[in-house]
Amino acid sequence: MAETIAFITGANKGIGREISRQLATKGVLVLMGARDTERGVKAVEELRAQNLPAEFVQIDVTSQPSVDKAAEEIGRLYGRLDILVNNAGIALDWFPVSELTVDVFRKTFETNVFGAFRVTSALVPLLKKSKHGRIVNISSGLGSLTLKTDPNSPLAVRDMLFAYSASKAALNMMTVHFGNELKSFGIKVNSANPGFTATDMNQNRGVRTVEQGAATPVRLALLPDDGPTAGVFSDDGPQPW
Ligand code: NAP
Repeated sequence: MAETIAFITGANKGIGREISRQLATKGVLVLMGARDTERGVKAVEELRAQNLPAEFVQIDVTSQPSVDKAAEEIGRLYGRLDILVNNAGIALDWFPVSELTVDVFRKTFETNVFGAFRVTSALVPLLKKSKHGRIVNISSGLGSLTLKTDPNSPLAVRDMLFAYSASKAALNMMTVHFGNELKSFGIKVNSANPGFTATDMNQNRGVRTVEQGAATPVRLALLPDDGPTAGVFSDDGPQPW
């Protein structure tokens, strides 16, 4: 069995796929989670074609039965989990808050917050069986109240993506709570801000490559035992809340 086993949600494309690739090149067995079997299997096969260790796990983070099934499968096949990357995410509200409906607000939280919470809750028992458990929540600079209210920050002037930004702020609070609670089990829980990365989420308008976007998440996934927990980080180091 591989020395380290990681599960990445939303791994069929974008930053999640690249996090999987980078972890696999370091010898980590990556369990690539995707809601669509065809797309997920294709991503797994791409890594395997490069002799990288990857397996497919079907998971829709908005469905409790799907999450339970994925957790059961990982437990049955591997008996533990070393790294969980909550990467699956959506950004729907590319317009001002005054145009946001409760429906879109709720949908955003269903994936970005309740989805990540659902997956984490289901997998904590397996992470507790690891000697070096790590959870990485893929957040965003938009989830930082400090940056959003700093007149010198380019993020402050963005008059869109309220639901998305609020979901990442909530995800950051989840990082703090799980981080504090799981400290005594040696499990480190951190948020990663990949930066504005060119993916389907932003019609490839991001200025960073997926290789760059995946770097901080991968670093946090492989933190040494004396590394930080319950923090939020970008390439530049700790990011303000
Ligand atoms: P992306 O290319 O759109 O990828 C999003 C991934 O999430 C896809 O694999 C998608 O699957 C999956 N997903 C969405 N809903 C899901 C669900 N209910 N269950 C399972 N998987 C689901 O976007 P990305 O930029 O790589 O985003 C990855 C993460 O980085 C997100 O959490 C995002 O908020 C965060 N982030 C991105 C940026 C950026 O600039 N790109 C910046 C900061 C943070 P399908 O293919 O099936 O839709």
